[in-house]
Amino acid sequence: MVPFTLFHQKKPFLNPEFQKNIPLTLPISRTAPIGKIPYVPLKPKYQGARVFLGFSPSPSRGEGGVRVIHRFVQTEFISPTRQLLRVLKPYKIQGSSTTSPRENMETLSPKSKEKKVFMETFGCQSNVLESDHVTGLLLKDNFTMTQKQEDADVILFNTCSIRDHAEHKVFSRLGQLVDWKNDREGRVIGIMGCMATSYKDQLIERAPHLDMVVGPDQYLKVPQVIREAAGNGISQVLADFDPIYFPENDPNRLSQPHKAFIEIMKGCDKFCTFCVVPFTRGREISRPAESILDEITKIAQAGVKEVMLLGQNVNSYGLGLKSRGKTDSFAQLLRQVGEIKGIERVRYMTSHPLDMPDDLIEVMADVPAVCESIHLPVQCGSDKVLKRMNRQYSVEHYLERVAKLRGRVKDLFITTDLIVGFPGEEEKDFQGTLDLLDKVHYDAVYSFKYSPRLGTPAARMLDQVPEEVMDERLARLNEKAWKHAGECCETRVGKTEEVLVDGPADKTPDAFYGKSRQNRTVVFPGKGYKTGDMVQVKIESHKVANLYGKTM
Ligand code: SF4
Repeated sequence: MVPFTLFHQKKPFLNPEFQKNIPLTLPISRTAPIGKIPYVPLKPKYQGARVFLGFSPSPSRGEGGVRVIHRFVQTEFISPTRQLLRVLKPYKIQGSSTTSPRENMETLSPKSKEKKVFMETFGCQSNVLESDHVTGLLLKDNFTMTQKQEDADVILFNTCSIRDHAEHKVFSRLGQLVDWKNDREGRVIGIMGCMATSYKDQLIERAPHLDMVVGPDQYLKVPQVIREAAGNGISQVLADFDPIYFPENDPNRLSQPHKAFIEIMKGCDKFCTFCVVPFTRGREISRPAESILDEITKIAQAGVKEVMLLGQNVNSYGLGLKSRGKTDSFAQLLRQVGEIKGIERVRYMTSHPLDMPDDLIEVMADVPAVCESIHLPVQCGSDKVLKRMNRQYSVEHYLERVAKLRGRVKDLFITTDLIVGFPGEEEKDFQGTLDLLDKVHYDAVYSFKYSPRLGTPAARMLDQVPEEVMDERLARLNEKAWKHAGECCETRVGKTEEVLVDGPADKTPDAFYGKSRQNRTVVFPGKGYKTGDMVQVKIESHKVANLYGKTM
């Protein structure tokens, strides 16, 4: 029998069956948000415990349940109670706490006061959001942030595993830090993000000077792990998934005053054969709508005007939520976000073309705050290759969705992702992609050479396309894509765009820049504008994808 400790996290979920079996009797003096259990040493009386329990009404699961934390091993959410009792069978109760977890833990002295952290972010908007979130946690915990690596005591890389190139960059940056690390005691190097979950302790085997590997669901522990690493030099790997944890914007410490990323779901169930996301970010989990709407309401009150709803496949939002409350689809969520007071613009990404229902298109057409832009990754214009990619739609289906979108949403800006040289791609398949470009006429294309990712089915396919063939196809594809992007910009000349000001333009003196509703960059001359101002700009010219004009 192994001892375990009960921690009551929220007003206990008192299932009679559970009460009968586990002596849970004491009131709760304070609540701690689910998933926000700090990773700090426990008071001695609890240190023998292997399992900790937190009780929660579990809004994300639609029924009460118990959060079980196997210390240092994994966390899991258990519901209903029968399952919990089965899991706990081998354990005996060591003690139970009447207070929040934090009160049962040692108080730590703020040793971090002088520690300066340099953080470098690779990859997508989710990583940008999560880096902001970790920055907020560090600042709250007395760390300071620095933009200069040479001033830092701690260097963190928030990494991306989507392509080989992104990983190589991180390994090369790590290699350059061996001397930096050895120069002074107490320096800390950490890897966060997708590489943390895809490589886990292999990262430390490969770079023994690395102190910490922390996956996206474990970021609340980053300040404490840094402190421990600086103090005892022992490397730690924390890469478990946590179905309940979502990073949130702090309305008192927004990284931009006027716009914010909002994570509405995480993980992916699509399993495209080239993609590591289902392995690095886990299975698809939707965040409860109440929590999303609450976060956006708070940041809108703090002055945010534009939100970008983020997820690997936002269109399937809600499919995993058992509760069928007032919000059970992405279309409904989008409508509610668009109606929040103060929110003038709503965007979202990324959409999977398979899950692009008519009701979502109707919300885009109907709700004024929802912007006329969509990122709809097609990946390839050949049915044969789409099948091998396991994309689960045909070119015909994709084109039908685009036609429907364009028919309902006026002035829609469409962007896409394309992979060139997927295994087995022949010239005729690639021609299909070029034909698709001509049919859709994208406003912008993000094109990539296929990059085999360890553990994915596509990496094991035998008919890999030679590098030089990929290079040649990519050049042809980009030439067409840039031509279309320029033509799309040309159609904006003479029109008036509503621009949300981001700040002074870097390269043009006495000018500002911002984004149009379609998400194009607009540069205009002027003085005295502030980030977050909304201005009307008459477009006079364009240079490739940027628009230039004058305020009205
Ligand atoms: S839908 Fe996107 S995130 Fe999911 S497996 Fe496919 S490419 Fe990866």
